[in-house]
Amino acid sequence: MYYPEPIARLIESFSKLPGIGKKTATRLAFYTIGMEDQDVNEFAKNLLSAKRDLRFCSICGNLTESDPCAICTDPTRDRTTILVVEESKDVLAMEKIREYRGLYHVLHGTISPMNGISPDEINVKSLITRLMDSEVKEVIIATNATSDGEATAMYLARMIKPAGIKVTRLARGLAVGSDIEYADEVTLSKAVENRLEI
Ligand SMILES: [Zn+2]
Repeated sequence: MYYPEPIARLIESFSKLPGIGKKTATRLAFYTIGMEDQDVNEFAKNLLSAKRDLRFCSICGNLTESDPCAICTDPTRDRTTILVVEESKDVLAMEKIREYRGLYHVLHGTISPMNGISPDEINVKSLITRLMDSEVKEVIIATNATSDGEATAMYLARMIKPAGIKVTRLARGLAVGSDIEYADEVTLSKAVENRLEI
């Protein structure tokens, strides 16, 4: 099917987003063209600003506007606990339940023996460095309940435990294979409360 070049490019851009096939991309592109000028401008501005104004916190790896991030610099947070997650969106999920008051560490992925992703390729080294000479007493591993999430948890436990720091894992209230991002607040809250030492 022939489309004028500008819309073909827009379809191409939308189809680069996860979970968006050609058909949905085409629908979104045509929808965008029908939008008010003001809304399209705002959309474009938000896309650019999200990319330009956000960076990763140099301490915890979370997405932030200022480095270090608001959580790392918050004097009221408990500095003896670090909760390790796969992605920044998992920090948001945890913050929503408002029960956890410690710090975070974002791995930006998982170790994946199947896909050849080694610990060096995710944000592990900075976690280990962070734990040296710190007041951290417990590391809670909240990687997803997938085989890669488990492999990552086991690897981290092996690395961290010799330093005399307690390592725990979220309790199995979460369904196997599930992402903590999609867990409801009660389930997540229970999973933190009933965490188990590994
Ligand atoms: Zn931070």
